[in-house]
Amino acid sequence: MYYKSTRNSALKLSSAEAIVKGISEDGGLFVPSEIPSLTIDEIVSYADMSYPERAARIFSKFLTDFTDAELRYCTESAYNDKSFASASITEISHLFDGTYVLELWHGPTCAFKDMALQILPYLLTTSMKKTGVDKKVVILVATSGDTGKAALEGFADVEGTSIMVFYPEDGVSAMQKKQMTTQDGANVSVCAVKGNFDDCQNGVKAIFTDASIKEKLSEQGRVFSSANSINWGRLAPQIIYYISAYSELVKNGDINAGDKINITVPTGNFGNILAAYYAKKMGLPVNKLICASNSNNVLTDFLKTGVYDRNRHFFTTISPSMDILISSNLERLLYIMTGGDDSRIREWFSALSSQGRYEVSEDVKAQLADEFAAGCCDDEQTKATIKEIYDKYSYTLDTHTAVAVKVYEDYRKATGDSTRTVIASTASPYKFGTAVLEAITGSAPEDEFDKVAELNRVSGYDVPRSLAELKTKAVRFTGSVDKAEMPAFVLDTIGKI
Ligand SMILES: *Cc1c(COP(=O)(O)O)cnc(C)c1O
Repeated sequence: MYYKSTRNSALKLSSAEAIVKGISEDGGLFVPSEIPSLTIDEIVSYADMSYPERAARIFSKFLTDFTDAELRYCTESAYNDKSFASASITEISHLFDGTYVLELWHGPTCAFKDMALQILPYLLTTSMKKTGVDKKVVILVATSGDTGKAALEGFADVEGTSIMVFYPEDGVSAMQKKQMTTQDGANVSVCAVKGNFDDCQNGVKAIFTDASIKEKLSEQGRVFSSANSINWGRLAPQIIYYISAYSELVKNGDINAGDKINITVPTGNFGNILAAYYAKKMGLPVNKLICASNSNNVLTDFLKTGVYDRNRHFFTTISPSMDILISSNLERLLYIMTGGDDSRIREWFSALSSQGRYEVSEDVKAQLADEFAAGCCDDEQTKATIKEIYDKYSYTLDTHTAVAVKVYEDYRKATGDSTRTVIASTASPYKFGTAVLEAITGSAPEDEFDKVAELNRVSGYDVPRSLAELKTKAVRFTGSVDKAEMPAFVLDTIGKI
């Protein structure tokens, strides 16, 4: 197996090279040359293995240049009960008849990004060793909140790496800010930017491509890399939990081996649902993939019409991690659906960047309709769903998962499809306490820690260890810079971490 680019099928990289590079120079995303297959017996056999063991088995099919020992080192370092609330790593809850919630947020930052960002540092440093890059890697991240903290937790004190995170000074919640500015680790740095998320992102992009900064870095034996969600090293770990969950449902007698399930995913950048599509292509028995969006419903329209059009109003919602108008990972799906036609992908994605719009061909539209269902809901409906599920089932949803539950309920009503369904739950309700409390009780306290206490009372869920600790944790990073000062900050900090 090798990796090619969605915009250049002739490329041939090992998985380690694809992970180190992150994105292809032609602007395309790396994809495996073929999709490996799994038998149902193999899937069922995973039920008796630990999560790291399941992960190593599945990775071995994609990262064929890694040894078994390397894969076990990566999976055991990432997925253990030091970082996650329990050794099972994910949890499955039965919500209502034949509908299961797959909780992906028991990691250190209480959002599903941990599932990939806990292992990426190990995949990356192992890939660097394997490709003979004898340098220390410096990760630069621009964040609107969740990714920055998850990347910090993943890379903190990982040998051979250091990490710098930039966040918009007034653009993150008080809790998110506290999570980042109290981060432990000798190799981490966090800095506020006087500006918005775009300023942070543009600043980081400019630093990545600045030749003089790169040269200074190289003199110190260092090289930049990114923890961006388009890296194959972030997508591959997400395939695992769908397969793992299926094996557990069989073991628990909830389904029979071979039964099809639906998978519903609250979607933003299309990474999480694409991972479910890969699992299906590998042989996981899946009926429909149901793509749930908030008011930023560009994907709902796309999956229904085959026209992707980002020329629309951008909404700031109570499910902010899904507030996105360009879903990068869609490029990988379309590459697969066109049978690897890189020229069509180049055509569509250059239309997207020049006109903000493209329309896929009829053969692709037919596949989209066959594999996917899609729906969306607004903030009022999201809150109403949190309340409804709380009242009926005493289960407290976060705002992102609530979008998925609402879209799934609508789908089930409209189609009558009662196939057993797994809903990906992407964040702990504690992470979005204001909106969750407003939905359930009608109001939320001002102070972040009062919110935590109130949510604990209302939900009865244990306060995640990492959030409870924050209250008394000392702030380590108070720096704040103008956008123009970001390069100087990076150069100044690099020698120290
Ligand atoms: C990132 C994120 C999403 C969206 O996931 P994609 O892979 O980008 O589609 C949904 N919910 C939460 C809580 C997230 O952090």
